Amino acid sequence: MSSPTPRYPLHRLTGQFLEPAREASYRREIAPRARLESSLALCVAAPVFGMFAISDYHYLEPSIELTLLLAMRLVVVVACLALAVAIGRLGDFSRRLWLHALPLWILATGIILIVLLRPESLATQVTALVVATIAFYLLIPNLLPVVAFASLYLNLGFLASAVAMTDISAVVVLRIGLLLVMTNAVGFFALLRLERLQRTQFALLEEERVQNRQLMEEIAHRKSLEAQLRQVAERDELTGLDSRRHFMARAEALLRRARHEKAPFSLFMIDVDHFKAINDTWGHGQGDRVLAALAETCQRSLRPQDVIGRFGGEEFIVALPDTHPREALMVAERLQQRISDLEVMEALPEHRLTVTIGIAGGVDEDADLDTLIQQADQALYAGKHAGRNRAVVSQEVSDEA
Ligand code: GH3
Ligand code: MG
Ligand code: MG
Repeated sequence: MSSPTPRYPLHRLTGQFLEPAREASYRREIAPRARLESSLALCVAAPVFGMFAISDYHYLEPSIELTLLLAMRLVVVVACLALAVAIGRLGDFSRRLWLHALPLWILATGIILIVLLRPESLATQVTALVVATIAFYLLIPNLLPVVAFASLYLNLGFLASAVAMTDISAVVVLRIGLLLVMTNAVGFFALLRLERLQRTQFALLEEERVQNRQLMEEIAHRKSLEAQLRQVAERDELTGLDSRRHFMARAEALLRRARHEKAPFSLFMIDVDHFKAINDTWGHGQGDRVLAALAETCQRSLRPQDVIGRFGGEEFIVALPDTHPREALMVAERLQQRISDLEVMEALPEHRLTVTIGIAGGVDEDADLDTLIQQADQALYAGKHAGRNRAVVSQEVSDEA
């Protein structure tokens, strides 16, 4: 049975993402941290390397070697500090990889030169070399291949210098060699593990971000669908007025408040006169345009607090809070005037659109919304019978108040 393929395959030897785009994105993500940490590590490593000048001075007589050693340490320290500043400012693992490799090679060269200039202290230097190799792998943040090559240079250079400058036996060379192989193996596999862990963590985090983004998009989409649904449920498509259902809910609330505050409340039931004739003569499309124009006139003529709904067909309904039916009658007549001023037929500018309006309402009455609608409807039909194009107040409306 084969193990499942990982979702984000990593290179076996470098721990890097096999997908170049993902690797680039990972390096971009870690750039600020890598810059800061590399810079700090170099600021620590350089003075440590420099401080060994004290022991050089202590163990060596004033000589050309001592001068060279001190000069070399100074050059390495200055170069590393300069590179620490440069890396802090512009070092990332994408474009300026050499900037990260350079301090390792300079430090390695410095360590190799010490063997050449102080061959008698080889034993101490082997310890220092082991520490330096581990520091290369683990303390100075870098990409694994960069570290591995710098370490190879350091270790081989060290061994070659030791063989060239001292008369150590083959067995000792072998022992040092084995120690260095072990040191490198430990450093290499520790860093490889770190590289893999960090990238896996990055991939998971990225996946979570993508999922979050998708979730947010999904939520936004649902919200917009909900808004559309609400719009469809609440609005009449042709006229943009409240749908009958939505009107009823809003008018109920207005009526309840009016009853509570003992404020007047009126209701209009509006029906277009001889609308069927408009449809029959000029077609349904023209009929629709007339209905839309009429709805717009109602919206423009009435107050913002009045609620207008399309009750059905060519019938409209209006709730007028804080309006006694007596005032409502004047409002209705003004509305009729505005409607009859409309030039709804381009071909027939003289054609006048008329409506009949039934009015119900009052102050602090027991009648609920359905009863008021019934009363307004009766008044409307009374108006139709009386010859249309008029506003009629329901007989149920009391005169007092
Ligand atoms: P009345 O003065 O007695 O009210 O006469 P009317 O012709 O207006 O009365 P009726 O109720 O018989 O006709 C209403 C017409 O309205 C019938 C129907 O085809 C038309 N109608 C209903 N809804 C729409 C619509 O959305 N668009 C159009 N164009 N016509 C509609
Ligand atoms: Mg009708
Ligand atoms: Mg009608």
